Amino acid sequence: MPTRSKAAAKTKSMLGIDQIIRIMTDRYGPFAEEPRLDAAHEIVFTILSQHTSDTNSSRAYHLLMDKFATLEEVARGEPEDIERTIAPGGLAKIKAPRIKQVLNLILELNGSLDLSFLRELPLDEAKAWLRQLPGIGPKSAGIILSFALGMPAMAVDTHIYRVSKRLALIGPKVTADKAHDILEAVVEPDQVYPFHLAFITHGRQVCKAQRPLCGECVVAEACPSREQFMAPAEVPQEPPKKASRASAKSQTKKTGVLPHSVAIKE
Ligand code: SF4
Repeated sequence: MPTRSKAAAKTKSMLGIDQIIRIMTDRYGPFAEEPRLDAAHEIVFTILSQHTSDTNSSRAYHLLMDKFATLEEVARGEPEDIERTIAPGGLAKIKAPRIKQVLNLILELNGSLDLSFLRELPLDEAKAWLRQLPGIGPKSAGIILSFALGMPAMAVDTHIYRVSKRLALIGPKVTADKAHDILEAVVEPDQVYPFHLAFITHGRQVCKAQRPLCGECVVAEACPSREQFMAPAEVPQEPPKKASRASAKSQTKKTGVLPHSVAIKE
């Protein structure tokens, strides 16, 4: 696995990435690692979660496992049966053949659905192995490696992408796919998991897509985008009489761990 130097951890952000992670973890964490699905199940779950809600994908996954019991049986199943079973999850016509195809391709390539061998590979090789599977892009590969196999792979969802841009951790023209490599290079391996959960939580609760709550943001002092969002609506046109901006400090309650891979769509 390539080592990451301190020099590589420099970004255009006004705070170091390690400081940002620490500040956000103090606010939203601590983030306990949860027991996860194994890698093959995580792949199926990831496919089911594409372009649908967490509730629907979770329901589809449980229906699938109730009906077929094992993924080997899903691999042998009739596409129509799989499609009918996962129909409540949406896009079943596309997802059913894809699940069957991916499971059979894994069996063909690996001889079994046990993907624990990926842990022994360098991170880039493990990613490349997963990316050869239909429907598995950089984000899905990151989720599977990170959450199912405990590897320090970056999975950049829409929240992480947005927050990283606003904090200038990535440039304004960097694509979501490219962001995986850039962020993975600047976040220390043991910080990938807290980074992931802290940024998703921050993006959902504070640095929202339409109206970020910059007045409640714990890293606002270091954010080059703050002025853009605070003006003109949040910047007073006349001097305030008594209230100070400091009084707008967050009342947001600390939250626990959020769902992670289940909330991330490719
Ligand atoms: S200051 Fe505003 S734009 Fe910057 S990270 Fe915080 S919420 Fe997002």
